[in-house]
Amino acid sequence: MAVAAAGFLVLLSLVALLAPLLTPYDPNATDFGSAFAGFSVDHWLGADQLGRDTLSRLIEGTQIAVIAGIEAITVAVLVGVPIGLIAGYAGGITDRILMRLVDVFLSLPGMLVALAIIAALGPGLVTAMFAVGMLFAIRIARLVRGSVLSTREELYVTAAQLSGAPSWWVMLRYVLPNVAIPLLVEVALYFGVALLIEAMLSFLGVGVQPPQATWGVMLSEARTYFYQQPLLAIVPGVMITLTVLAFNLVADGLASAVNPTSARPKPKAIATETDTGTVESVEAAAPDAVLSVRNLRVSLPGDHGPVPVLRGVSLDVCRGEVVGLVGESGSGKSMTSLASMGLLPSGAHVAGSIRCDGTELVGAPERAWRGVRGKKIAMVFQEPGKALDPSMTVGHQLSETVRMHRRVGRSAARAESIKLLARVGVPEPERRMKDYPHQFSGGMAQRVVIAIALACEPEILIADEPTTALDVTTQAQVLDLLIDLKDDLGVGILFITHDLGVVADICDRAAVMYAGEVVETASVDDLFADPQHPYTKALLTATPDDDADLSRLPTIPGQVPRPETLGAGCAFAGRCPVAIDTCHTSAPPFVQIDEGRQVRCVLADPASQVIPEKETV
Ligand code: SF4
Repeated sequence: MAVAAAGFLVLLSLVALLAPLLTPYDPNATDFGSAFAGFSVDHWLGADQLGRDTLSRLIEGTQIAVIAGIEAITVAVLVGVPIGLIAGYAGGITDRILMRLVDVFLSLPGMLVALAIIAALGPGLVTAMFAVGMLFAIRIARLVRGSVLSTREELYVTAAQLSGAPSWWVMLRYVLPNVAIPLLVEVALYFGVALLIEAMLSFLGVGVQPPQATWGVMLSEARTYFYQQPLLAIVPGVMITLTVLAFNLVADGLASAVNPTSARPKPKAIATETDTGTVESVEAAAPDAVLSVRNLRVSLPGDHGPVPVLRGVSLDVCRGEVVGLVGESGSGKSMTSLASMGLLPSGAHVAGSIRCDGTELVGAPERAWRGVRGKKIAMVFQEPGKALDPSMTVGHQLSETVRMHRRVGRSAARAESIKLLARVGVPEPERRMKDYPHQFSGGMAQRVVIAIALACEPEILIADEPTTALDVTTQAQVLDLLIDLKDDLGVGILFITHDLGVVADICDRAAVMYAGEVVETASVDDLFADPQHPYTKALLTATPDDDADLSRLPTIPGQVPRPETLGAGCAFAGRCPVAIDTCHTSAPPFVQIDEGRQVRCVLADPASQVIPEKETV
């Protein structure tokens, strides 16, 4: 049905385009001898009360209807899309203000608003369709905002932000194309409605004015003579019905083809606030640290107030080293990486310190973050398939990043992109530049993501579980690649993982996280040889080695507590086999027990108790 409807609309467009050539008579030429004529050879669709040829007037009306629809849709798209795009992408106060204005317009009856605009600007086709376009713009703004809220959470949009691209570029290049499909469906629907409203306004005498022929004017004039010649009303009536029906069928067809329901709006975002807070006394930042996080605290808005998801995280990453950030799901690893890139969800409250090359970023304007993302710190995500834009070739995505950051021409960017693909081990890089992400295997796609991250020549690479979605063989290859890059390019890597085996393989130092806190930091050798925190010991015990009896895998009893349920004591107390009374009532200090080695446990605090020689977990 949708195909037949689309065919009808194509025919309608051709009729509108060729109207002057197709009309057998002048649409306004009167011939009283033919007044009220029925179907005949001279007048195929009859003639009206003035003997004007109905077919000619219908064809002229088709042209006017199509022009009217185009005008209304153009106004709607030009006004509605930017409003929705900015509101959805910016979020916070901008979103709230724009959406409240939209709500005010939506609360008014549409036809009343249209008539008010026409009354202010005067009757006529241009004014009427401008009014209709403004009505549609409000609805399109809401639709686009909803789609943007969904699209901006996609990893490839985050990846584009991380590359340091300005917001307007990310909006136009990465967000807008992906809201185009639901927008297209809506536009098809509104085109039909625009024709209907144009006919209605003309029928009421506030749209196109007689003697110009439109379907609405024809209907309006026909009502007086309905009993003399019903065809005068039936012909434009059938035309309006068929056209609106065709637009609806095409919109339905598009909707079912692309399933736009996936673009439902998400709950409204809340503005991000930051403050630097008071930095807890922790080990001083390493002098050569590129990324230095100190006492980082992050709260997210919850149903019953702020929920603390990071509670004093401190870590350093220097060039040429791999720092593992390890812990169970929900321990705050990914939140730490997002905070380090300034990509926390809207409404997050941030305190503490994040320094990159000595520049404080907590509380810094977006411009400062853009100077860091991509250029100083780049990110590699867990799922390469989602980190790449499916609508563009990898060559295009890579070249764009190179051009943006290195300010080079197209051919230089292309040459550099081929080099980068070759550097990360993509075979036949020149040929593969033309391929789309779905044509790459998981491992190859992850290499492309790494190449894009390297395009900005960052000093630090944050790799957020980059091998989790890959098979074991591919995992090993990607890990080897990261180590090569560290050795060859000297980049520092913050490697986020829940896999202690990977930490042992590739990391120089490690920070163990639990319930939003770093509970132990140490060199990897020390951590594995002599773990100090009971949670670290439990993690190591739960990691099967080659000799383990795999029929019964060791686990850590209990679960990571939800942040909103945390009390005053140690977050691990409920699962800790060596907990003492103090653990349940007061938070353990972060104690430095050696150079580069800290533990958050009362048992490690020399002031409270000596660390037992041996504990079983
Ligand atoms: S502070 Fe107490 S509960 Fe927490 S890890 Fe140390 S011993 Fe266990």
